[in-house]
Amino acid sequence: MYEVEKSNEKGYDALMQKIYLDHAASTPISAEALRVTADAMKKFGANPSAIHRDGREARTALETARRDVAGVLAAHADEIVFTSGATEANNMAISGVVQAAGVGGIKKPHIIVSAIEHPSVLEVARQLERYGMRVDLLPVDEGGMVDVRLLRKSITKDTVIVSVMYANNEIGTIEPVAAIAKEIRRARKMNASAYPYFHTDASQAANYLDLNVLRLGVDLMTLSSTKTYGPRGVGALYIKRGTKISPLLHGGRHESGRRPGTESTALAIGFANALLAAQKLRVKEAKRVAILRDLLASKILKTIPGTSLNGSLAQSLPNMLNISFDGIESDALVLYLDAQGIELSGQSACKSSEDGPSHVIMAIGKGAGETAGAIRFSLGRSTTREDITRVLKELPPLVVQLRGMRVAGDQ
Ligand code: PMP
Repeated sequence: MYEVEKSNEKGYDALMQKIYLDHAASTPISAEALRVTADAMKKFGANPSAIHRDGREARTALETARRDVAGVLAAHADEIVFTSGATEANNMAISGVVQAAGVGGIKKPHIIVSAIEHPSVLEVARQLERYGMRVDLLPVDEGGMVDVRLLRKSITKDTVIVSVMYANNEIGTIEPVAAIAKEIRRARKMNASAYPYFHTDASQAANYLDLNVLRLGVDLMTLSSTKTYGPRGVGALYIKRGTKISPLLHGGRHESGRRPGTESTALAIGFANALLAAQKLRVKEAKRVAILRDLLASKILKTIPGTSLNGSLAQSLPNMLNISFDGIESDALVLYLDAQGIELSGQSACKSSEDGPSHVIMAIGKGAGETAGAIRFSLGRSTTREDITRVLKELPPLVVQLRGMRVAGDQ
């Protein structure tokens, strides 16, 4: 049984003392979101569907959290469905739309997703392909950008959903979401159809980019509390009014019949708190981390031979940097840096090197060596100039050491 010990507090502090450059995998919960979530856990133990007083109070608090999330998105509260996270929201968006389209009489729904989507989009598309749907993967250029003209050519009258992420989780590329939305509206008009719908996975974007769904023009949008300094185990799917979508799970009438299961009032409250704070800080934080990220990038690329940038800094989230180190396996470098108290990742935390090389680095046209040696530095609120200075000090000798071991191993 898990017990709270005094030493755990030390563990949390120790984590904070490390240099944590893995914010794309998970952002530590903010002190404020932790306080609010813990408080709400104590206060709102009742089921928000219950009609007694405590139930009604939990319902009111849950609906306030929903309105807060909707407010950030310029959406209506009834357009927000709380989920267990981004994976569930992505599954729901794609499978839910395809199922509803099937019920609506579309015989062989067509799905378009970009080649660099998170596995929680790509694997859903692959599964639906096994069930007989048609799937097209939109290629990207060397910066990781999808080509809107290519998308235009790929849309058919059977296309029910296009899913292109707002910002990529390995190289940070910010996709032209508003331009894609415009193209999709054009296709709908031409086909005189409500389809295709446009879904974007905004999990990585929430700390730095505008989430206004009206300006973006999306029909469905995924958010994850884990990526925005909120509690784990909660996220949301924005579903524009009128969008035809089936639930993934079947059960009670929670979340307006779209997602059964007793809602976690406290997680929803913590998430809403974190999202509001992230959006309030986003412009300032974007400027701050971009300076640190650019410094890290230029020093590594200039001073360590055999390194190359993956993606394009100008088109990417301000906190993301992905660099390939020739002659190095990314897992080895990650573990060596870990031993120095520096935490980061090779590729997405949802994939390890055992799953094979990164589909994102391959999709931008990099060779096998560059793909194997790709490291992601993802900065965040805790990142300081001192952190960057220390990484720049520790990294070069480790690279030399690992390359030396490899050469020795080859002999
Ligand atoms: N989409 C993107 C772009 C992500 O980066 C992640 C997390 N790596 C997910 C979806 C899945 O998020 P969650 O763990 O909240 O399900």
